[in-house]
Parts: sequence; C-alpha cells; structure tokens
Amino acid sequence: MAPVFRGQRRAPPCASTAAWFAPSPDPVTLYDRNSQGKLLGPVTGPNTPQAPDVGGKNPHVPLDVPSVLKTIQRPRRALVTSGMPYANGPLHLGHLAGAHLPADIYSRWMGMLIGRENVLFVNGTDDHGSTSEVSAAAAGIPIRQFIDGIHAQQQVTLARYAIGLDVYTGTSQPETFPIQKQLCDFFLTRLHANGMLEKRASRQWYDPQLSRFLPDRLVRGTCPNPKCNYDNAYSDECDRCGHQHEPTALINPKSVLSNATPEMRDTVHWFLDMWKVSETLRTWIEGKARKKAWRPSVIADTLEKVLPSLRFDGEHEESYKALKATLPAHKSKYAPGKKVVLQFGDKAALDAGRAALAAAGIPSTIADEWAHRSITRDIAWGVPVPPIDPELAGKTLYVWPDSLIAPIAFSQVALAKKGLAPETYAQYWRDPEARVTQFLGQDNVFFYVLMQGAMWLGTQDDPQRLPLPGELQLTDIVSAFHLMVSGEKMSKSRGNFYSGDQLLDEKGYTADQVRYYLALLGLSEKPSDFDFGKLDERNRFLAGPLNAAFERPISAAHSKFEGRVPDGVLVDGVLKDTVRMVQRYVKSMDRADYPNMLFEVENYARIINSLFAQYKPHDDRHPEEARRNALFSAFYVLKNLMIMLYPFVPATMDRLRESLRLPPTVFSVDELGVPISPGHAIGPKGDYFPVPAGMERSDPA
Ligand SMILES: [Zn+2]
Repeated sequence: MAPVFRGQRRAPPCASTAAWFAPSPDPVTLYDRNSQGKLLGPVTGPNTPQAPDVGGKNPHVPLDVPSVLKTIQRPRRALVTSGMPYANGPLHLGHLAGAHLPADIYSRWMGMLIGRENVLFVNGTDDHGSTSEVSAAAAGIPIRQFIDGIHAQQQVTLARYAIGLDVYTGTSQPETFPIQKQLCDFFLTRLHANGMLEKRASRQWYDPQLSRFLPDRLVRGTCPNPKCNYDNAYSDECDRCGHQHEPTALINPKSVLSNATPEMRDTVHWFLDMWKVSETLRTWIEGKARKKAWRPSVIADTLEKVLPSLRFDGEHEESYKALKATLPAHKSKYAPGKKVVLQFGDKAALDAGRAALAAAGIPSTIADEWAHRSITRDIAWGVPVPPIDPELAGKTLYVWPDSLIAPIAFSQVALAKKGLAPETYAQYWRDPEARVTQFLGQDNVFFYVLMQGAMWLGTQDDPQRLPLPGELQLTDIVSAFHLMVSGEKMSKSRGNFYSGDQLLDEKGYTADQVRYYLALLGLSEKPSDFDFGKLDERNRFLAGPLNAAFERPISAAHSKFEGRVPDGVLVDGVLKDTVRMVQRYVKSMDRADYPNMLFEVENYARIINSLFAQYKPHDDRHPEEARRNALFSAFYVLKNLMIMLYPFVPATMDRLRESLRLPPTVFSVDELGVPISPGHAIGPKGDYFPVPAGMERSDPA
C-alpha cells in the first residue's frame, strides 16, 4: 500500500499566519490503526526523499535518525571564512547577506557536526591598497586611525548580528601584519622559484611632488571625449559620459593626492602566471563538477576560463568550417573584434588544433589573457615584496593576492588567541581530511578559485599536480549572487542603502529576524530582492505560528504536567516524519542551500500544532495516555526544531534552550532524534520572536 499523504501542502515562501493555521480541507489524522503508513503532517517538499515503504523494506531509506546521521561525511576539522570587507565604511546588508551570515550559518552547522572546538571561523578587514588610502585621505585622517575606527565599528556590527567569529582582525593590524608579511614572502618566494612570476614593464602615472607612482584612480583630468569635457574624469574612464580611454589621452591630468601634474614613467611588475598550472586547475574544477560539489554557476564561470582556448580573425571562418570536423573536439563561439574563439578539452588538444589551423593558413593566438595578472603595485600602503629581484624593490603586493593569503594569517591569530601554537593552522589548511569553505560574492569567484588555486599550487614542489597531504589544500567556495533592495540595486543615491546597524537601530528589527529572512532568500542560487514587505510578513509568521509551536508544549507542561516532560511514546508518524526531515536537513546544510529546507522545517513545526489539535494535552477532559504521548511527542519535535533552527536564529534558539533547561551541548546533530527524558523539568516560557508592531499577540493555549 502506498503511503498516504494527508493534507499535503507546502508553505509558500511567505505563508501568512492565517494560511498556516487554516484547517486543512482534508482533516489531519494523527493515528489510525487501520491505516498503516499514514503520515502525520505535510512535511514534504519537491526534494524530499521518498518515505520508507510500509514494511520498511526499501533498504535505501533509513528508518531512524542515527542511520541518517551515519550517512554524513564529517571532516576532521573545518575552517570557515568569507569575503573580506574593505576598511572604508560600515558593514552593509550586502556584506551580511553575501558573506558573513552564510559563513556564520555554515560554521554553526559545522560546529553541530564535528564540535565547535574543531571549527575555526575567521575574518578581517582588507586594509591595504588604494581604497583605504583614498578614503582616509578624503576623511583627512591618518590611515592607521581611519582603519582602526572603521574596523571597531564593523566588529560591533558583526557581534550584534551574532556572527560567531573566532577572530575579526585585519591585514594591517599589529597582531596580524607580521604573520601576513611572512606568509606573503613565502608565497612570492615559492611562486618565483616555480617560475610563476613573470616580469612585465608598463607605463604608470608618477607624482613628481610626492615621488610615488599613482594608481589610475588617483589621477583625474578632463575627459578626452570632445562632446563631454567633464573636468573630473578618471585616468582610464569618465564617470559622467562613460568614455574609456588610454590614461595618456586624459587632458590636463592632476594627482588626486597632491594636485601636481603627474608624468608617465616606466615601471616593472610581477604578473602571476596561472597558465602554467591551468591544466591542474582544470582537473580540480572538473572534479568538483563531477561531484556536484559547487554550484553550477561557479563551475561554469571558472571552466569557461580554464578550458584552453584560441582565437582567430573572423575572415578565416570559412576555411575553419572546412577544417572543423578534422580538429580535436572543441566548441566555437564569436568574440568581440570579429574574432572566433575555439575552446578545447585540454592543452594537448589545443596544441593539435592550433597546428592544424596554422597548416591550413589560419593564424591563431592563445586566449590566455585571464591567466596573467599583475600582482604587485607601486603604492606604499601594502605588504612589501621580499627582496628577490632588485627591479621590484619598493613594490607592494596587490590587495587581491594579499587578501587571498589573509585567512591563513587570521587562522594563526585566532589559534594564538585560543592559546594554541600558530603552526596548528596546518591542521586546517594542509590536511585533506579537513575542509576549508569560503563564502564570497559571485563577482569574486575568479579570484577565489583561479588566482587562489594557482597561488596554492605554486607553493608546491611540483605545481603540475593536485596537492598532497601536508601541502596547502585547495578550498571549497560558496558564492552569493547580488542582493537587490526593494527591487533595485542598493545605492546611497537611490536611498535603499542600509548598513547592518541601520536595520537594527532605525528599522527596529532584531538580528534574528534579519538573519532568518536573509537565509530564506537563497542568494547562493540566484540574485534576490530584499523586500521589506516580505520581511514583515515573515516576522509575523515567526511571531505567530512558530512562537506558538515553541510555547504550547511549555505552557501545557506547566499547566497540566507539573512543569515536566510527561512519560510517553512517540505518536505514530512522528518518527517517520522526523527521519525524513533530518535527512533533508543534513543534505541541505552540507550544501549551504537553505530556502526550501527552511520551509520544510516550518512545516515540521506544524506537527506540534496538529498534536495539540488532535489530542489536547492541555485539556484534562481528553484521555490521559494519549495526552501524555502527544506532549512527549511535541517536546521531541520541539527539541529537533530548536537544534535545526539554531544556525539561523541562534539567540532565539538559545532562549528556547534555556526555557527547556537543556545544556548548550544540545546544539549538536547527534542530539537530533533524541527525546527529552520523561520527568525532565521545563523552565518558564521566554520571549522568542518579537511581535511586529500592529500584530495581535495570539494566545498559544
Ligand atoms: Zn566624459
């Protein structure tokens, strides 16, 4: 007999309170001896694994929670980090949504999985480079003082949002800089020894008054577009008419720092040669694609680069077509400048294809521009490069490689704060049994996968292979798409720019309200909109049905069972629903994929409501044994609910934990499916989710 799904209904993304409580057209039957396999509540979604068949004969479906938990892969240790904010302003909604919050949820999940003592969650400000330098200059404050002020403010905001970092430092902070410098020296020395630093000369603006080179953005002048003549255009681009130009075309250039007239001077920089290891990068990314370990967008963005490509002029297209079938397998596409690009499976195929084209009179070039990026700068505010090459004396490391290396330095700082030897960082970064996961914006995927991957490989004795145990292990990434606010790109001029503090202080939300809503947006899958109307609707749901699910068992225990969890057994169907829910939960948490799973957790909470509707544990007039079993089951569901929601709304779940008088160690996956012992004394009801203004507080009893 097929399982019967009664009243199956998946909550829409923003189910209102009314819909949640509305009686199902098909009344929910909790227990019916004549109908085995009947499910208690609608705890299903599109991705929910199939329920066990009636006799439990399907060997692929676990029958209890411990069997589900045995299927999870547990890394030995976990390092979690996220994109680093510049030290130039307060943390805003975009930082929280795309970086810090998903990383915090994930690190709490890892803590529940392998013990918090085996998790390191680190972050800090990206201090170096011209961004901080220019902002400090604009504010008229010495750069050290400027960065410290911003950093302190960001640290407070992170704490207010319960971002549970082991350390929030910054690349220029005194506790971090010496470690960072040592690491940067190590990387550059190894990359140089492996022939992955290519020296290239270029011309760059120089401020003769300050005796220093100027990045393009530190030179302004009159736009060379005769129709524009804007007198404050950037050196390479006009922000009024959008005209892009060679820096030398700028009319009447001025140094932003001194107002002196800059001159063009020759300068030499190191370019990181990622092409040298692109086949190893390709092997790595293709492996991630096979295991579906990363989001398709990340795989697509990076494979697009590392699959070896060549290009030729469109005038040769006809000759190419005649040759096409004889070339190694490839894809072709048009590219700007009337070019045709061919993408091959590996470098050997590229070489063969290129030779065949040349033999047919089609000259081609390798499309490897992505693989050569300058990684040094002529600015003073940065990490000085080690004295390997006199021509590079006085240069500093570009902020991107600087910030990719930084989490290793942050890890050492965090471990030192715990009284552990800094070298123990290797247990996180150099152990294939450990897992390093980085959360960042989609725009930064290039840097965190390709540039970082090439830098890591470049420290090996042989960069042409994947790392061995003891070498720096390649990391996992979860990227976030853009967050829109009220349907538009967030910007100060549109008036839809919100700092993290503004949402708490001016808008009056609690951190958990914002955290829950942001987790529901699912930015790792698609760009999403932060909509205040939907946030408010969600908060009504949290304060209504969800609070009621928390409060009803506690109230009933106090009013009818002397404040204790009654002795009982699980009501039929509760175990099965729990097994399925936990199965779904651990899978989604591992993938950092939250929205659909959270809707199912919300539906799982409905079981408590159903138990109260059916058995009325709070009402003496109903049969006592059934009431005891129902309340025992309600506490069972409540405890699972609390554990599952903890990574999302930690402060609220901690208050619930205190009401249930359970120790903090209850926040562990191994506590899922373990009932609260009969006779356990329950504390008083607390304040869980706040009731939004204008919403009637419902009486849970
Ligand atoms: Zn212009």
